[in-house]
Amino acid sequence: MNTYNKEAFVTLLKDKLTRKNIKHIDDATDQDLYYVIASIVKDELNPHWLQTQDKYVKNETREVYYLSMEFLIGRLMESNLLNCGLLEVCNEALKELGRNPEDIYKNEHDAGLGNGGLGRLAACFLDSIASLNYAGHGSGIRYRYGLFEQRIIHGNQVELPDYWLKEEYPWETRKTDEAIEVEFGGHVQMHAKNDGSLEFSYHDTDKVMAVPYDVPVVGYQNEVVNTLRLWSAELSPEESDFLAEANGQYYHHLDHTHSVEQISGFLYPDDSSYEGKELRLKQQFFLVSATLQGIIKKFKKNHDLPLSSLYEKVVIQINDTHPSLAVPELMRILMDDEGFEWDDAWHVTTNVIAYTNHTTLSEALEKWPTTMIQQLLPRLYMIIDEINERFCKGIWFDHPELRHEIPGLAIIADDQVHMARLAIVGSFSVNGVARIHTEILKNKEMKNFYTLFPDRFNNKTNGITHRRWLLQVNPCLSNAITDVIGPQWIKQPNKLISLLRYSNDAPFLEKINKVKQSNKQTLAKIIQQKTGVVIDEHSIFDVQIKRLHEYKRQLLNIFHVIYLYNELKENPTMDITPRTFIFAAKAAPSYHLAKEVIKLIHHVASIVNYDKTINDKLKVIFLENYNVSLAEKIIPAADISEQISTASKEASGTGNMKMMMNGAITLGTLDGANIEIKDLVGDENIFIFGLTAKEVLNYYQHGGYVAKDIYHNDDRVRKILDQLNHGEFGAHEIEFKDIFYNILYHNDPYFVLKDFDPYIESHELIERAYRDKKYWQKMSVTNIAYSGKFSSDRTIREYASEIWKLR
Ligand SMILES: *Cc1c(COP(=O)(O)O)cnc(C)c1O
Repeated sequence: MNTYNKEAFVTLLKDKLTRKNIKHIDDATDQDLYYVIASIVKDELNPHWLQTQDKYVKNETREVYYLSMEFLIGRLMESNLLNCGLLEVCNEALKELGRNPEDIYKNEHDAGLGNGGLGRLAACFLDSIASLNYAGHGSGIRYRYGLFEQRIIHGNQVELPDYWLKEEYPWETRKTDEAIEVEFGGHVQMHAKNDGSLEFSYHDTDKVMAVPYDVPVVGYQNEVVNTLRLWSAELSPEESDFLAEANGQYYHHLDHTHSVEQISGFLYPDDSSYEGKELRLKQQFFLVSATLQGIIKKFKKNHDLPLSSLYEKVVIQINDTHPSLAVPELMRILMDDEGFEWDDAWHVTTNVIAYTNHTTLSEALEKWPTTMIQQLLPRLYMIIDEINERFCKGIWFDHPELRHEIPGLAIIADDQVHMARLAIVGSFSVNGVARIHTEILKNKEMKNFYTLFPDRFNNKTNGITHRRWLLQVNPCLSNAITDVIGPQWIKQPNKLISLLRYSNDAPFLEKINKVKQSNKQTLAKIIQQKTGVVIDEHSIFDVQIKRLHEYKRQLLNIFHVIYLYNELKENPTMDITPRTFIFAAKAAPSYHLAKEVIKLIHHVASIVNYDKTINDKLKVIFLENYNVSLAEKIIPAADISEQISTASKEASGTGNMKMMMNGAITLGTLDGANIEIKDLVGDENIFIFGLTAKEVLNYYQHGGYVAKDIYHNDDRVRKILDQLNHGEFGAHEIEFKDIFYNILYHNDPYFVLKDFDPYIESHELIERAYRDKKYWQKMSVTNIAYSGKFSSDRTIREYASEIWKLR
C-alpha cells in the first residue's frame, strides 16, 4: 500500500513543510517535523479508516466494543508508522536530512490514560484486534489530565499534573455531531399505562454532553483502521443557555461539588485499589451511558433489525468492573426508551455483555454505597435493586443448598452495591486473565457463582502486542531473528519457536549477545543522563519496573540489595559479578507505605552508589516517571525480569511477557502468567522461588506464619530490619520505622521475610549462571522462542472465537 522510497518521502516531507509551516527543511524544528509526519501518516490512514467503517456497515459486521476506564497507549507515532509500513522509510528519510528520528518522535506526549497493566492491556488488545482484521473498537474517557507525572525530590515522590493536551494531539478528531447527552440525578416518576404496565420518566436531571474524540487504531499493514473513541464531558447546550441566564454560575449547578468538565478531568491514580469517590462513579456512568447510547443509535441506523437482536451484531467486553453499570444502563435504555419488557431487556443485556475480572485483591473490589447510587443515578438504582431481587429469589427457589450463602452473593448487601457480583450476574461470560487466576476465581473467590453459572467462567491469559514490544522497541533483535528464521514470525508470532534450532548456534548466540550489549549501552547512557550515575555496561541488568505495591514486593528486592551490600562491606574482595538493580515505579499518591519503599530505594541507592569500598560492584538505579515510553527503553536492555509478587496476588502480569520476549530471564514466584512462562520454557530456563499460591492461601486461612520467628532466627534478615529501625538508611532516626513495624507487628502480610531466603538463593544461582555466557545466551534465546504464546494476537483470537464469536 505504501510505495514511498526514501527520496519520495524526503520530497513529501519538504512539500508538506512548505504548505503547513511555510518553512524550509533546515529551519524546521523537531516539533514542526513531528506534526508534518503525523499529517503524512493521517493522509495515509484516513482513507482506510473511512473504508474500514464503510465495510463494517455494508457487511453488517458483528462488532465488539471494548469498554475501559483506562487506555495506556503511550506514543502513537512510531507504531502508526510501523503499522502503515512507513517506519523504516521515514527513519531513513530523516537521517538523510541529518535529523535524529528519536528527537522528532519524542515530541509526542505519552497518552497516559491508564495506571498500569490493565490500561496497557486495553491498548495492546486494540492493536491486535485491528491487526487481525477484527471489527472492534475501544471506548474510554478523554481525561484532560492523565496519570500524574512523578518527580523524586530527596527520595520523596512528588506528583505533578499531566496536562498531555497542552500541545495539539494530532491523532484525535473531535466529532461534535455525534455528541450524546448523559443525564445524572433528578427524580423518577412512575405512571401506570392503560395496559397496567409501568412507565418511567425522569425530571430535573443534570444534563452533560459527551463529545467523542476519535483516535485511529491502525492494523499491521492490512489497511484496517478501527476506532478508539474517547468521550469528553462538556456543558449541554440547554444547560449553557440556562447558565447564560443565571450569569454563569456553572460550577455550582450540575452538582454542588463537581463541574461538568471535571467528569473528564483526570484519571484516578489508583492501581489495584478502590476509591469510593462520587466523581469516579460519575466518570463510570458517563462512559457507560455515552457508549451504550452511541451503540444503539448506530445499530438502528445501520441495521434493519429489531433491537431485540442487538446481541447478534454487538458484543461489549467490560475491562474489570469499572464499566459494570453497563448492565443496568442497557436495561434502562431498552425498557424506558425502547419499550422493552423486563424479560426481553434482560435477555438482550445478558447476551451482549461480557466481563473480565482482573483481581482478587479485596481492596480492589468495587463496592458503591447504595445512597450514592440512589442519589446520582436513581433510575439505575431501581433497576439494580430489581436485578438483585430476582437473582436472590432465583437462588432461594432453584438452589436451596445455597440459601445460607445469599449474603455473600447478593448484589446489594450491607448498604453497598457489589459491582463484581452485578457484572457476573449481568453478563454471559466471566473471564480471568491467567490460568491460575481463573482457577482461584472458580474454586475460591467466586466459588458460589461458579456453582450457579459453571459455563460462564473461562480463562483468557493476557498478552502483549509483539509489534510494539519487540518489532518497534528492539529493531536490532527483530532483524537478528528475521535473519535466521525469516519474517513469518511477524504475522505469526508462534513461529518464534523456530529459534530453538539456533539455541546452540554460536554465531547466532553471539549476535543476540551483541544486540543485548548494545541495548544495555544505550540504557546506560540514558541512566547517566537522567541520574548522573555511571553504571557498568557489563553488569547484570536486574530490572523491576511496575506500579509500586506491597504485593509486588519491591521491598523484597531492595532487601536483597541491602543484603548484598552488607556482604560486600564485610568482604570487599568478594568475587561477584557486578549488578545493576534498576527500578521504576509510581505509587498511588495516598499510598503511604508504597511511598516509603520508593524513599528507601533512593536512600539505599545514595549510599551504595557512592561507596568506594565496594568497587562499583553494585549500583541501584531508580528511574523516575515510569510510563510506556520509559518501559520501551528499559525492556530491551533487561537481563533479569523481576516478577516476585506474593503468590496468588498478581492476576497475570504483562511486564513479565514483555521482558521474556526481549530475552530477559524471569526471576519469579509461581504467580500469574509466570507459571505459564515456566511451563513453556521449563525449569532450566527460569528462576522460580518462594511460596506457592496454595501455601499462601493456606497461611491466610489457617495461620501458622510468624514473621518474628524469621527475624529472630535469620541473622541476615535481622540485620536489615535493625538497620531500618535504627535509621541507618534514613536521613533521621525514625525514617523507615513504618516499614519495620509493618513487617514485624502486622506479621509481614506479603511474606517478604518468608520468601527472603529462597530469593537470595535464586540470586546466587543467577550470578553463577551469568558467568557461563553460552549457557545464559541459550536461556535467553529459549525464552524469546517460547514468547510467541504471549502475543496479544493469541489472546485476541481466543476472545474473538470463544467469547465474541466474531467472523
Ligand atoms: C506493561 C506495563 C505495566 C504492567 O506491568 P506489570 O509488571 O505487569 O505490573 C505497567 N505500566 C506500564 C507503563 C507498562 O508498560
